Amino acid sequence: MIESTPRLASTEEVVEELRRRSSFVMVSHVKPDGDTLGAGLALGLALKRLGKRVVYFQQDSVPRNLRFLPEAEMVSRDLPADLPDDTLYVFCDMSDWRRAGEYLPPVDRENMLDIDHHLGNSLFGKLNYVLERECSTGSAVMHLLRELRVPIDPRIATCILATIMTDTGAFMHSNTTPEALDLAAELMRLGADKELITEQIFLRRRVAATKLLGRIVDAMRFEHNGRYCYSYVDDAMLAQTEADGEDTEDIVNTLLGQEGVEVAALFKAIEGEIRVSLRSGGRVNVQAAAQRLGGGGHFRASGLTCHGSLAEAFAAVEAALVAEGL
Ligand code: 5GP
Ligand code: MN
Repeated sequence: MIESTPRLASTEEVVEELRRRSSFVMVSHVKPDGDTLGAGLALGLALKRLGKRVVYFQQDSVPRNLRFLPEAEMVSRDLPADLPDDTLYVFCDMSDWRRAGEYLPPVDRENMLDIDHHLGNSLFGKLNYVLERECSTGSAVMHLLRELRVPIDPRIATCILATIMTDTGAFMHSNTTPEALDLAAELMRLGADKELITEQIFLRRRVAATKLLGRIVDAMRFEHNGRYCYSYVDDAMLAQTEADGEDTEDIVNTLLGQEGVEVAALFKAIEGEIRVSLRSGGRVNVQAAAQRLGGGGHFRASGLTCHGSLAEAFAAVEAALVAEGL
């Protein structure tokens, strides 16, 4: 029978597939965050405990603030030449396999497992384990670990807790459900190092990043009676503050935090492309706005890439947001 509409896989089906295969590539997305990386590392560590061969693929290098994660030093954009044909590629936290970047060699759909929690996942895998209600991809992975009956050691627990804290903004975003908090508590009891995650991902800040924040804040503009705040960063601002692209990551949340702001956008005109981060306070669906321009994400947090000038990007994004009710 030809299955035309992909459906979601059950926990049991995914675990059966994981047990059947002996070799795995855990794939995280470009511009990796604590969820894509932590989810892949946690599942990878568990599969290794079952005696499987696991390698970690990520096109970009591990961001400074995630290097503390167990096994982060094993992550590479180079795959071994001797991977067996039936290697399963496990894509974590991406609505489409293209988010893995162009360095990933072509993979047959037969060998793709899609684990995610995004709205609008393209269901690109042989198996698609997409749990939209989960706060993070790592919390979806947790269901698999339970079904696999692997002991959850402190390293695995730290990886999963890092996914939850990343995607809930350290338990501040609206996806901080009672279930998310229960799971976090359980992970702490299993030995997850919450102090380390807090320090590394949320508290420590480079001086260059703070100087860059100042420049971006100076450039803020407000439209739609103060409901829309946007700003930008370009190569010159990075050079002047000695910051780099990584230092731009959470700054859009500062824009969203300004009084009266419902939607924030940060335009990052870096190295010839314009990446846009969108955030919403909850009324406007920024996932839908991003999708209009070829991007995606979540209701309250999304991203996209714009082509053309910065002024054109400002106009295109504002129009997409207006179309979604800004
Ligand atoms: P950020 O602003 O932190 O880069 O991204 C916020 C959210 O939007 C993340 O969940 C991320 O996966 C998603 N996202 C960012 N850029 C893109 C994109 O170009 N395409 C898609 N489909 N999702 C994106
Ligand atoms: Mn995520």
